[in-house]
Formats: sequence, structure tokens, C-alpha cells
Amino acid sequence: MIEQIRDQISKAAEIIRRGGLVAFPTETVYGLGADGLNPVAVAKVFEVKNRPTFNPLILHIENKDRLNTVCEIPTDKVYDLINEFWPGPLTLVLPKKSNVPAIVTGGLETVAIRMPDNSIALELIRQSDTPIAAPSANLFGQLSPTRAVHVQKQLGEKIDMILDGGKCSIGIESTILLIENEEVTVLRHGGIPVESLREVIGEIKLFPKKSDRPNAPGQLPFHYSPQTPILMLTLENIEKHKNQKIGAIFFKGNYSKFNFAREIILSRNGSLSEAAANLFSTLHKLDDMQLDCILVEPFPPEGLGVALMDRIQKAVAKFEVG
Ligand code: AMP
Ligand code: MG
Repeated sequence: MIEQIRDQISKAAEIIRRGGLVAFPTETVYGLGADGLNPVAVAKVFEVKNRPTFNPLILHIENKDRLNTVCEIPTDKVYDLINEFWPGPLTLVLPKKSNVPAIVTGGLETVAIRMPDNSIALELIRQSDTPIAAPSANLFGQLSPTRAVHVQKQLGEKIDMILDGGKCSIGIESTILLIENEEVTVLRHGGIPVESLREVIGEIKLFPKKSDRPNAPGQLPFHYSPQTPILMLTLENIEKHKNQKIGAIFFKGNYSKFNFAREIILSRNGSLSEAAANLFSTLHKLDDMQLDCILVEPFPPEGLGVALMDRIQKAVAKFEVG
């Protein structure tokens, strides 16, 4: 893949260096990237996404050795984590150094950093020769993009370039950990299950639920929503909407006796990682089908199922509050 688009990566890096915006693939979702050390470039990211500026961005680096150029490292747990999980869907929030502009961190004294596991992303960051600040390449609150066409649909006209790297392999955002001295807290569930993190560093706290704390908007009660109303797949909801055109998303089950207008199974063999890789693209697809509503089967509350349920609950919450 990377060979075919080498010229485009160089062009994209040039755009980043000049303060422009490039959407690029990562293993989680497509990012909307800007030079993370250029506050004017980063301001454009907020403008284009319509994202509130209290919602800080993640800096993407291409080499573990660059970590200490943007933050302090308060504990060896950081090295244990990055040696095990980087490159990969794990973001660490650490005390920032003074070269990181306040607009990246929403004015906080901490900065979020990760090293993505995607060769196009890594080459883009390397050639740009700067950490790339990137949130997901979608309008604020809407579905995350896992293919280049999803970015084109929401942001195509407003940004300088989209690098097409095909489908995102993980398909769900990174797990975010806040590191305060020796204490580690999950701010957002994501591509690496908390169970796997605990195996490497021991105790990890869970951030209190239903918070509207502004430094953790991954905790906002709703987010990640399609335009079509979305609800949990329960017998009660099936009954309530039975005369409507329903799109149903199943984890692995099949409820075809209900004759839904459209049915999609995320993983026939019950693999949570396959389900994660397919979830957002399935929501994009159903959202384009003029359905009356989308019903989603709950995921088992373990491993990646925790992050998947978090995304679905936030999407559903938007319609529950009206
Ligand atoms: P996204 O919106 O997918 O780009 O994810 C960025 C997430 O990183 C947001 O939910 C932020 O809350 C979180 N984040 C970034 N920087 C910080 C920080 N300094 N402290 C806490 N959370 C952060
Ligand atoms: Mg996002």
C-alpha cells in the first residue's frame, strides 16, 4: 500500500509543514492532522471539525524516542506500556513540556500522545518532522471515519488533502490512560482492553462514569452518533418500532424472524476485534439508507466489548435525550 502512495505522502508532509490539514489513516480511525507544534495550524482543526476548544487533541509521534521531546515521564510504567503496546491504540496523558501549544491541550498542563500502528501514518509523521495533532476526521459528535470515503463525505471540501490507506484495521479509537505520578486511570475505553493493560502494569483505576469533566470529553454523555435514530436492540424497542423501516446490527446473533429491512452481522464467529473493525463502517452504511431507525445488539461487557458498548451507549444517548 505504502509504495503506491509514496508521492502522496511526501505531498501530504509538505502540506503539514506549511500549516495545512491532511486526513490520514491510522489503525484506529482516520485522523485529521496538523503540525502539533504550530498553534495556527491546530486552530484550523478545531474550526473545520466544529470541535469545542476545551476538547484537547492527541499528538501522534513516529518513534518512541520522541516521547520525551513533548512530555515528562513520571514513572517507569510509561516505558513498560510503550514497550508493550506501541505502536498501537494506546494514548498516554502525561505532563506536557513547554513547546506544546496550549491549543493542543485545551489549556491543560498535560498532553495526550500515541504512536499509531500504520505505516502510512508513521511515514507521514516522519517526513513532516513534527508531532501531528489529530482528532478523528469527522464533524464533532458524528460518526468516526474508518475509510477515506467517510472523511470525504463529512470534511472533503474543507481540508487540503485526504491520504487513502484503505480500511482501518482496528476501527475503534485508542484507549486513553491518564498517568499521574504512579497512578494510572482510564479516561476512555478503546482498542486495547483494560485487562491487557493490567497484565503489564498492575492496578489501573476506572474514571468515574457520567462525568462532564471538560478535560475528558471522551466522557461526554453523547458522541459518535449517526443521523438516523439509533437504539439498543431489545424486545421492547423491536415492538415499539415494528411498523418502521429498521436496520439491525447484530454482534454475532441472528434475529431474522423479525424481518428487519436490513440486517448486518458484525462477526459471525463472535470475534470482538472483527466487530470493532466493522462497527463504524456499518453505521455509516446504514445511515445512508434512509431507514427510520437503527437497532444494535449489546456487546458482551469484556475485552473490546467494553469500548464497543461505550460507543453505542453514547450514540444511543443522543436520541434518548431527544
Ligand atoms: P478524539 O476526540 O478521538 O480525538 O480523542 C481525543 C481524546 O483525548 C479526547 O476525548 C480528550 O478528552 C482526550 N485527551 C486529549 N488530551 C487530553 C488531556 N491532556 N487530558 C485528558 N484527556 C485528553
Ligand atoms: Mg472523535
